[in-house]
Amino acid sequence: MKNKHTSPRILFPKSVNEALEMAAAEARCVFWAGGTGFSTQSRQEGSLMSLPRVVIHLGMLEELSRSSRSESHLEVGAMVTLDRLASLGPKILPEGILETVALIGNRPLRCRATLGGHIVHALGRTAPAGHLDYQSGISAGNLVPLLHLLEAKAEIRYLRVRGKRKALPSIRRVPLTMLEGSEGLKKGEILTRISIPSSNWNYSAVEELPYDGSPSSPLLFHALARIEKSVLIDWHMALSDSRGNILRSRETEGLLSGRSLPMSVRDMNALAQSLLQMTSDWKERPVQRQAVVSLVSDFIKKAGNLH
Ligand SMILES: Cc1cc2nc3c(=O)[nH]c(=O)nc-3n(C[C@H](O)[C@H](O)[C@H](O)COP(=O)(O)OP(=O)(O)OC[C@H]3O[C@@H](n4cnc5c(N)ncnc54)[C@H](O)[C@@H]3O)c2cc1C
Repeated sequence: MKNKHTSPRILFPKSVNEALEMAAAEARCVFWAGGTGFSTQSRQEGSLMSLPRVVIHLGMLEELSRSSRSESHLEVGAMVTLDRLASLGPKILPEGILETVALIGNRPLRCRATLGGHIVHALGRTAPAGHLDYQSGISAGNLVPLLHLLEAKAEIRYLRVRGKRKALPSIRRVPLTMLEGSEGLKKGEILTRISIPSSNWNYSAVEELPYDGSPSSPLLFHALARIEKSVLIDWHMALSDSRGNILRSRETEGLLSGRSLPMSVRDMNALAQSLLQMTSDWKERPVQRQAVVSLVSDFIKKAGNLH
């Protein structure tokens, strides 16, 4: 995969189909979006950036740099940078996105890093093992757990092989939660668009848990709630670590959905028990387990006070 002595050939496709064909023609190639994922890797390896023979730069693909909004969805092209995503503002962006983007690196990074690159980098699709561990304790793929909670879908473009006939450019849409599964992104395929339903979440929380010195710290807490007439209609929550592991429990979410706010002491105790159960693998992280219980309790209490 790596070639230390020759510079890579950089290709600039002008359409997604051209990019797919270029990737199909090259056994050793990589897509380049903002390029920040590659610089992380080289810093960790203490080397100059090591790239395969061919780099396919997605920067000329205008159609991937657009975003649009309909009544039901926000569609964001994979080449939209995190900074441009944030600039859409709180009226257009679904709950939690603005706060989460603000946690990712610094502004110069967010002006280069793209939404598609952020997602694929977090999946480690084309990255070597260990690519996702940031030595400075920075979380990887901060937006991914939130996009899971928002039930976002990924649009993937690929070439459908048809025996001896010419491969056909094709398209499929999969829930982001399945991006790593058999329906997910494969080598040579391009993540082109993220589609986020404009659901009626009206309260959110995004928090970093206290650093506890473990290699996968820090942990990130995301929660969304839909509250109507003092009833918690639905809520989702996820915990994620700097290795891209996402912890979510539908059972815990189901405990409180449909209940009136404020919650009774009994419901809050049941929630605390369920959260301890959910984090039972973290035996060596008692402080963080307790922090999760406090964060979720605060979230539910504040949601009750605000609506
Ligand atoms: C200094 C620094 C600080 C950081 N801090 C954080 C942080 O706090 N939190 C956090 O979550 N992350 C952090 N990151 C990681 C950052 O989120 C990613 O580097 C970035 O989002 C990758 O986006 P990119 O557009 O630069 O992708 P690239 O680096 O261009 O690509 C990343 C990977 O995705 C593939 N790829 C890119 N686009 C596509 C596509 N459309 N289809 C298919 N494959 C594609 C590439 O081939 C490559 O394997 C940090 C990185 C740096 C360098």
